[in-house]
Amino acid sequence: EPNVLGPKQHGIDPKLLSSNAVRVTSTLQEAGFQAFVVGGAVRDLLLNVKPKDFDIATNATPEQVKRLFRRAFIIGKRFQIVHVMFGQDLLEVTTFRGTAAANAPKDEHGRVLRDNTFGSQAEDAERRDFTINAMYYNPATQEVLDYHGGIEDIRAKTLRIIGVPEARYREDPVRMLRVVRFAAKLKFQIEPTTAEPIRVMAPLINNVPAARVFDEMLKLLMSGQALACLQQLRKEGLHHGLLPLLDVVLEQPLGIKFVTLALDSTDRRIAAGKTVSPGFLFASLLWHQVLEKWTAYQAAGEFPIPGLHLAADDVLDSQTEKLALQRKIGSDMRDIWAMQPRFERRNGKNPYKLLEHLRFRAGYDFLLLRCASGEIDAELGEWWTAFYEGDEITRADLVANVG
Ligand code: ATP
Ligand code: MG
Repeated sequence: EPNVLGPKQHGIDPKLLSSNAVRVTSTLQEAGFQAFVVGGAVRDLLLNVKPKDFDIATNATPEQVKRLFRRAFIIGKRFQIVHVMFGQDLLEVTTFRGTAAANAPKDEHGRVLRDNTFGSQAEDAERRDFTINAMYYNPATQEVLDYHGGIEDIRAKTLRIIGVPEARYREDPVRMLRVVRFAAKLKFQIEPTTAEPIRVMAPLINNVPAARVFDEMLKLLMSGQALACLQQLRKEGLHHGLLPLLDVVLEQPLGIKFVTLALDSTDRRIAAGKTVSPGFLFASLLWHQVLEKWTAYQAAGEFPIPGLHLAADDVLDSQTEKLALQRKIGSDMRDIWAMQPRFERRNGKNPYKLLEHLRFRAGYDFLLLRCASGEIDAELGEWWTAFYEGDEITRADLVANVG
C-alpha cells in the first residue's frame, strides 16, 4: 500500500548518502532481512540536504542485528535499538515498531507509557510523527516508500501530523514541541488541523518526564534556528505552558532582549560550524531570573558574592526538577554566573587571575551579552576586550588607568 517512487521521481542525490548507512542496509539485506534508511535522513535527502545522522529500520530483531556487525551494542531496556559503530560513526538500527495498541498502558492524561512491540513496516510508518518523517529509502533499489503522502507534503512545504492530531498529542505531548521545531527548522507551514489543538493541549507537556522534555528542548535550542523556533512558539501562542523555562524568560522585559541576543549568537555559532555549550545556553536563558533573586538577596542585606551564589542555588534547584539539567551543565552555569562580579574588579592582579579561569572565554562572552542587552555599561565589555586581546604592555596600561 505505500506509494513507491523511483530515482527519477524522487530525485535523491546518492552522493548525499553515507557509505556506512549503505553498508548497514546491504549487510542486513544480504542476510535476508529488509532494511531501509528512515525518518529524518530521508526527509533531508529529499530536501537535498546532507543528513547529519542516519537511522536504519529493519524487520530483523535487535539480537539478529547485533550478530551481523563487529561493533554493535543493544541499547535501552524497554524498546531496544542497536547502535552500530564504524570508527567514530554511529548508526541507530531500529526494528519495525508496532502502533500503540488500544490497551497499551497509559497515564491518567492518556500518555502512552509503553509501546514496545515489534510490528510491520506499515505499522512502523503509522506510529511516526509527521508524514515527512515516515518515509523509507532503500539504497539498493534507490526506491522511496511513502506511506502517508510525505512526498507531496515535502513539495508543498507542509508539516502534517499522521493520524488524528488530538490523539497523537495525547499519546505523546512532546510531539507538540516537535511541530514547532520542525516548522522553524525547515521553514514549513504547519497544516491547520495539525496546529489547531496545540494551544489547548500544550499544558499536557507538564506530565512528560523532565528528561525527555529536556532532550527535545536542547534539540530545539541547538537547531541553529533557535530564535526562529522561539518566534514560531509565540506565533502559535505556545510560549506559555509548553516550556516552563520560556515562561520564566519571557515574563521579564529585559530578559527577552538578553535571550534574543543569546539565541541569535548561538544560531550564528552553529551556522559557522562552531560548538555551542548547553551550559552557556541555559545560563543565558535563566540569567534574568538569577538577577532578580540576586537583587532581592542584596536588598535583604546579603553581600553581593554570597547573594549571587544563593540566587544561583535557588534557580538551579527549581530548574533541575523541571528540566532534569545534567550535573555538568549545572556546574557550567554556576561558573559562568559566579564569574560575572569578578569582571568588575579590574585592579591589581584580579584581571590576570580571571584570565586564567578555565571558563574565562564563556564568562567573557556572557559579559559581552550583558553589555549588548543594555544591562550593564558597554565600557566594561570594551575594557575586557582590550585586555583580553592586548599584549603585556597594553594590559598593564589598562589596569593602571582603570577608574
Ligand atoms: P533531526 O534531523 O532533527 O534529528 P529527525 O526526524 O531525525 O530530525 P529524531 O528526533 O532524530 O528526528 O527522530 C527520528 C525519527 O523518529 C523521526 O523522523 C520520526 O519518524 C520518529 N520520531 C521521533 N520522535 C517521535 C515521536 N515523539 N513520535 C513519533 N515519532 C517520532
Ligand atoms: Mg535524527
